[in-house]
Amino acid sequence: MAEYLASIFGTEKDKVNCSFYFKIGACRHGDRCSRLHNKPTFSQTVAMLNIYRNPQNSAQSMEGLTCNISDMEMQEHYDEFFEEVFTEMEEKYGEVEEMNVCDNLGDHLVGNVYVKFRNEEDAEKAVLDLNNRWFNGQPIHAELSPVTDFREACCHQYETGGCTRGGFCNFMHLKPISHDLRRQLYGRRRKSRQRARSRDRESGSRDRGRKAEHDHKRRRSRDRERSGRF
Ligand SMILES: [Zn+2]
Ligand SMILES: [Zn+2]
Repeated sequence: MAEYLASIFGTEKDKVNCSFYFKIGACRHGDRCSRLHNKPTFSQTVAMLNIYRNPQNSAQSMEGLTCNISDMEMQEHYDEFFEEVFTEMEEKYGEVEEMNVCDNLGDHLVGNVYVKFRNEEDAEKAVLDLNNRWFNGQPIHAELSPVTDFREACCHQYETGGCTRGGFCNFMHLKPISHDLRRQLYGRRRKSRQRARSRDRESGSRDRGRKAEHDHKRRRSRDRERSGRF
């Protein structure tokens, strides 16, 4: 029995725990949900609810107004927001592994920002501090989120451009940032990590200056590292 319960935990078959909260960290029933929302006490991920304001949505919701913001302006606006939040999270709280923003329209998902830190302690620190802060004239609501695997939480149809449920889909519609920004935010850190790693190795290697050999070794030890991890 215990095994059975463990195997269905957080799935649709689980009559006790809410599968949506478990996978997506948000459920449309909110506190009125008939199933349990098990709020994590530790997590790498912080959710800031309803933070991102999509200018296209606000324009559409004003009656009689047609939306005349171009897709390019939209992307610029979004990239600026993303960069600002991402940079601030890293400067104030610690290294960010991944950040995602929901493009959904349902109340429980609209504008949600999920920041997955490298360390749980940084996430904890961020939640405590963020709940005393304001963004765009609104108090921030931040909480630790059970979501760590965004592949499970996001809508795959949205990614291929064909979600029939549109903005009211209950899986995350994660709005992509531009390639340039992605390279700038994630690429730079990957490089600096690589640099740090090769520095460590260089200081331990005796035959400095024999770069070709060194590079060869580096590749080999990287392969070793890889195979050791699995
Ligand atoms: Zn629920
Ligand atoms: Zn969808």
